[in-house]
Amino acid sequence: MYDAIEITGKLARINDNCIFCGACIDACKFKSIEITGIPEQDFDFSGYEGVMVFIEQHQGSVAEVSYELLSEGRKLADTLGTKLYGILPGYDLKERIADIFCYGIDRLYIAENEIFKNNIDDIYSKILVQAINRYRPDIFLGGATSFGRTLLPKVAAIIKTGLTADCTELSIDPDKKILLQTRPTFGGNILATIITRNARPQMATVRPHVMAKAAINQPDNNRTDNYLKYAGKIEFLKFDPLNFKTKYKLLSQEKESGQSINLTDYDVIVSGGRGIGGPDNFALIKELADVLGGVVGASRAAVDSNWISYPHQVGQTGKTVNPKVYIACGISGAIQHLAGMQTSDIVIAINKDPYAPIFKIANYGLVGDLFEIIPRLIKKIKSGKSSI
Ligand code: FAD
Repeated sequence: MYDAIEITGKLARINDNCIFCGACIDACKFKSIEITGIPEQDFDFSGYEGVMVFIEQHQGSVAEVSYELLSEGRKLADTLGTKLYGILPGYDLKERIADIFCYGIDRLYIAENEIFKNNIDDIYSKILVQAINRYRPDIFLGGATSFGRTLLPKVAAIIKTGLTADCTELSIDPDKKILLQTRPTFGGNILATIITRNARPQMATVRPHVMAKAAINQPDNNRTDNYLKYAGKIEFLKFDPLNFKTKYKLLSQEKESGQSINLTDYDVIVSGGRGIGGPDNFALIKELADVLGGVVGASRAAVDSNWISYPHQVGQTGKTVNPKVYIACGISGAIQHLAGMQTSDIVIAINKDPYAPIFKIANYGLVGDLFEIIPRLIKKIKSGKSSI
């Protein structure tokens, strides 16, 4: 299947196409193939030093996750006895960056130019690659925001290193002094700890809100003064903006109206999935959420179809929620969706398929057409009666 076995003379040789799936071991009738483990190679990474954090900003406002990462980066750097660096591309930043110095950073590299005004990964990746190649950090971290999830894999691919996406925990192996990058896998059922053995830097993105912010000095409102106070720790990167070409053309920018929604603030979440059939039908989901004083959530299928915006998404790649009541409407109950809501106190599922997996974890199941059930539910809730 992978053309990984070559016959030379009468000898079979496994070549570089091998993906270690083990299929040949079962297929070999002579039982003469085994995987003995990948030998550890010695690489010289002595030229790499320090923890570098990509500080993400949008229109000059630093993303909260960047402060969380600086706090975590400080701890990792202290454990390794090394320095903490920040790299901040942006435009018109000077008066907004003083807070960064409250998180124990040793040096901040700034790339300031109009080309960084909009967060275009194509352009940002070039400056990050330049900084990594020049300063050779041992560890490079970024937020698992939508921008970070696009940008950092691109950077990792260009500099040919590994990237562990969506980490929830980082630590240092006490013996090998390498980064242990822990992230949920298999729908959140197990935690995998991943290491970057053969390349540097060790790169990871980290989910927002999983690591605590720990300011060393209190942030101060007199930002311009603070910035000047730390000028000795700042280095402005030199680069030629003409080399930062992109194939993207920004046509317009619209502020996401639902961006401020925080599902975790609510006791009741009513979520719609593909089964609601289209964007307009979220009005029905919202009506039910409103009568219950709750908020609208969604499955990824609904978000990917552009029926509703990403901040509403519940699940492995969306929000993890545990409200008092979670009502899943027209959602099948894929493991990735369950990963984000199965710890809710009470789960109510409305689905026309009695075998939908969501019923396996639901406390209450309503089998039927949601377009019949939900209006009746709303009517009963409004009338204050307890049965449909
Ligand atoms: P479907 O699976 O298509 O289910 C629709 C359901 O609606 C069906 O059960 C159907 O019986 C029911 N239905 C249809 N019409 C009606 C009606 N009139 N009345 C009542 N019921 C009706 N998914 C997430 O939700 N969140 C995530 O964060 C997420 N992350 C992912 C990460 C990865 C790496 C991958 C691979 C997938 C991820 N997914 C995630 C996608 C997930 O695997 C499913 O594809 C998705 O959850 C399906 O969404 P759904 O239940 O809305 O749609």
